[in-house]
Amino acid sequence: MDPAVGEKEEGSQPQGAVVIDGKALAQGLRHKIAQTVGEWIRQGRRPPALSVVQVGEIPASTTYVSHKVRACRECGIRSEHIRLPATVSQQELIAAVDQLNRDPEVDGIIVQLPLPDHIDPHAVSWAIDPEKDVDCLHPENFGLLAKGTPRFVSCTPRGILHALTEYRVPIEGAHVVVIGRSLIVGRPLALLMLSRSATVTICHSRTRDLPTLTRQADILVSAVGRPGLIGPEMVRPGAAVVDVGITQIEVEEGGRKRKRLVGDVKFEEVRSVAGWITPVPGGVGPLTVAMLLLNTLDAYRMREGLAKK
Ligand code: NAD
Repeated sequence: MDPAVGEKEEGSQPQGAVVIDGKALAQGLRHKIAQTVGEWIRQGRRPPALSVVQVGEIPASTTYVSHKVRACRECGIRSEHIRLPATVSQQELIAAVDQLNRDPEVDGIIVQLPLPDHIDPHAVSWAIDPEKDVDCLHPENFGLLAKGTPRFVSCTPRGILHALTEYRVPIEGAHVVVIGRSLIVGRPLALLMLSRSATVTICHSRTRDLPTLTRQADILVSAVGRPGLIGPEMVRPGAAVVDVGITQIEVEEGGRKRKRLVGDVKFEEVRSVAGWITPVPGGVGPLTVAMLLLNTLDAYRMREGLAKK
């Protein structure tokens, strides 16, 4: 990354945010991943493999899973999309996961969330072999992340860290305000930022006076899924604003209804105040997928004895 592109001069007045191009960063990562996998194949090794289990037919989940599977294939990673009916029992789902645990040619396993109400996601996270848990949801992996000695780093937080690092956004000593406390984004991101010596505040649905807290942020991350939650009045001038939220809305264009993805942040208005900003789409989303591929490569290296466990 050219520092002239990503870096803000210290003390300069913000002139409109640098837009963090997550799509370009992800393309760069995917190119390197494809090269690494290609090299392994040339050495006569088996390809890395990721299995994604989807329960039921939530359309957004089907879209996310097909993005993940396609991204794997484009990089030479073997991947399978296992579809189970919404009526599958918890026991049957855990049996399917266990079969993947025992398959020596599967490196990474994901069970796509959300699950139907009759299935306890915590029980499922305990069932995944921790060495194949590329979403970092198994309590052992979550504990390692909390200790600051991660085996895997959750994909979205790893993608955010990569973007901030590439764009030279200072993290050490910065006040990071994370909105959202999910196990997949908010909590692991807060732990990751803490290990990078940031001062961290976690906000959630019961937080009082959100704007007072967000205005203190050097780095503000919104992972809620509520369009328009973050306006310019909630952002400190020059702050980095990371929009994780993804909501599909319907808009009218030329008399026709179209579906569009939007984040939590009022992009155009916040852009004129912030120092850096991630767009939706094209920000955190593509990086999350790229990090899933990297986590699968990490699992492969550990399982093949190419890296320390
Ligand atoms: P979630 O959907 O499980 O929970 C939402 C969180 O927002 C909760 O912690 C809740 O306390 C908090 N919240 C709700 N209303 C709030 C309010 N008014 N003020 C402050 N906090 C509030 O969380 P999730 O699974 O992390 O998903 C959050 C959003 O991020 C969703 O839109 C999801 O689609 C998106 N997401 C995007 C990516 C990506 O790669 N870009 C990855 C994962 C999730």
